[in-house]
Amino acid sequence: MEELTSVSVSAWVAVSAWVAVSAWVAVSAWVAVLTVFCSIAIEVVKIQVGSFAMSSNIMKSSGKTALRPEEYTIACICPLAIESAPLEALLDRTHLQTFWTGYNSYTLGEIGPHNVVVATMPETGNYKVASVAANLMNDFKSIEFGLLIGIGGGLPSEDDDIRLGDIVIGLPENDDCAVVQFDRGKSYPGDQFERTGFLNNPPRVLLRAVHQLRVRHGHGSSAISMILEQMIKKFPLMMDNGYTYPGRARDVLFRPDYAHEPGPTCARCDESYIVKRDSRPDHHPRIHYGIIGSSNMVIKDGMLREELKRQLRLQCVDMEAAGVADLQFLTIRGISDYADSHKNKEWQPYAAAVAAAYARDLLSMLPPVPQQNESVSQARSHLAGHGGKEIPKIEMKAEKIFHQSTFSSSGPMYF
Ligand SMILES: [Zn+2]
Repeated sequence: MEELTSVSVSAWVAVSAWVAVSAWVAVSAWVAVLTVFCSIAIEVVKIQVGSFAMSSNIMKSSGKTALRPEEYTIACICPLAIESAPLEALLDRTHLQTFWTGYNSYTLGEIGPHNVVVATMPETGNYKVASVAANLMNDFKSIEFGLLIGIGGGLPSEDDDIRLGDIVIGLPENDDCAVVQFDRGKSYPGDQFERTGFLNNPPRVLLRAVHQLRVRHGHGSSAISMILEQMIKKFPLMMDNGYTYPGRARDVLFRPDYAHEPGPTCARCDESYIVKRDSRPDHHPRIHYGIIGSSNMVIKDGMLREELKRQLRLQCVDMEAAGVADLQFLTIRGISDYADSHKNKEWQPYAAAVAAAYARDLLSMLPPVPQQNESVSQARSHLAGHGGKEIPKIEMKAEKIFHQSTFSSSGPMYF
């Protein structure tokens, strides 16, 4: 009996031990699996969104895919997705694809020697873009310059043969600013405008770069068409999305006093009102330099367009340039319509692509901008609060860098 009891106890102990070990192994395995799963999940969250939630923690734990925030020195704001797509396609390398910080959407990458931040906007308008730019400069405190890149309405005249698919660069002209906010002026009988304020011009270092590029283009060596060809070669599906040249036959300018006939296209509009223009020998985009008019309203009126041209000598109208004009930005617009009632979206993708190509060409000429030890944007904000009188100090630093390495007799360095 005692022997039987001893065997039973031994069996019970053995079974208990086996159950305990099995349970321990099973629990341990589950814990290990859960630990690995959670670690992977945490890393993914960190890389994708977690570290970008607050500007002070941007990319703290995402160094595997992006650089530190202070290593990004150029801001590119492309208000619409249709405008950011070609610029993102033209990045030499993408560090981090589209992510949200809660208020801005960014893509990080590089063009030539520059680490750039590409920002898009949930809504258009001067006030919106000013907010996006302010948040961007707070998130990336070494931003030196900005480019506003996208589409705009062209204001052609006998003196300015602006066509769809051309490019307008916002530059100061005579005593005028590069950007005029015309909806701020007082309206008088007869549609007279009186401007009530003046916006800052783009930083001199960018103006010099534009000048240098203008000289190069004057020699017939524009790289824009080649850049567009490379973009389509790399991303052939962009051709299906309209990012290629639509054809000169689809570039129609009607007399300003002739209104669009109802319909999505100009198929029903009277061709006898088409303005006769000389044909061009090729379809390479022409680049125009001058004043960009900016307002918070869409201009779809040929007669208003003519008045803006006559009174303010505008080359182009948009809805964002005034919002960033005081923040060291240069505006680059591809012409997608003529700001009249015939305006439609057919040329928008291609116009966005030519603007992005110009931006790439321009950035390829600029030498690298060293990351800052102190916040340039904070300094800029502080200086702006004192009338912007000391802003040239920042420009002088940048100009010094620029002259040291770019304008050598051997020409552009990076393209
Ligand atoms: Zn029409």
